[in-house]
Amino acid sequence: MADIAKLIRTIPNYPKEGIMFRDITTLLKDPQGFQDTINQLVVKYKDSEFDYIAGIEARGFILGAALAFALGKGFIPVRKKGKLPGKTVTQSYDLEYGSDTIEIHEDAIHAGASILLIDDLIATGGTAIGAITLIEKVGGKIFETAFVVDLPELGGAKRIQDLGHKVHTLCDFSGH
Ligand code: AMP
Repeated sequence: MADIAKLIRTIPNYPKEGIMFRDITTLLKDPQGFQDTINQLVVKYKDSEFDYIAGIEARGFILGAALAFALGKGFIPVRKKGKLPGKTVTQSYDLEYGSDTIEIHEDAIHAGASILLIDDLIATGGTAIGAITLIEKVGGKIFETAFVVDLPELGGAKRIQDLGHKVHTLCDFSGH
């Protein structure tokens, strides 16, 4: 079994001074590491009842699509502004290093469908809470949220739990 945390590279001061960027490209490049990452999520969710996996652009696409394929679920993209061709619902949110806007197709989710939300990393939780808001705006329900990396000192997982949602993470790093 690969040590997922050890396969994640840290790049200091990217994209801004003081940020320790946890770079999962080194984990994705490692065949055993990538497979073990998805397999850990498959083991966790293979007997769960939910309808779709939603992934947040861009690293949430890689992980979410692989997991959706492995579990035989459909995949729904939550994209950066201006990328989806159909009618969209939009949400802006603050990041650890700036702000951003994400969108989902307004007809992506049928009323009451339950969604497993995936991204690579949870820091302040702003991105994931933005995605949760979008999913709920278009009629979906959050089944659970899952991330490869948690940065617990930034409090995002707690913010999501305080909203009443479950958070599953595979490893964590201290600091920012
Ligand atoms: P947040 O909205 O603060 O929870 O930030 C989560 C989003 O920003 C995820 O999509 C991450 O990929 C990215 N992100 C934030 N902080 C970091 C970090 N220190 N290292 C790598 N990615 C990060």
